[in-house]
Amino acid sequence: MDTKKCAHELCSCTVGDNQKYCSQNCEDSVGTTTVGCDCPHTACGGKL
Ligand SMILES: [Zn+2]
Ligand SMILES: [Zn+2]
Repeated sequence: MDTKKCAHELCSCTVGDNQKYCSQNCEDSVGTTTVGCDCPHTACGGKL
């Protein structure tokens, strides 16, 4: 099985085949300087 990761560099969430980001938060944060992932997933390893 091929598990894809969220395209956000700090995010460790997995996404589906047709998804690039796990959440709108990750998509919105691309191009901005972030110190931690802002997605709503508590299991994410990129949280502050
Ligand atoms: Zn995340
Ligand atoms: Zn994400």
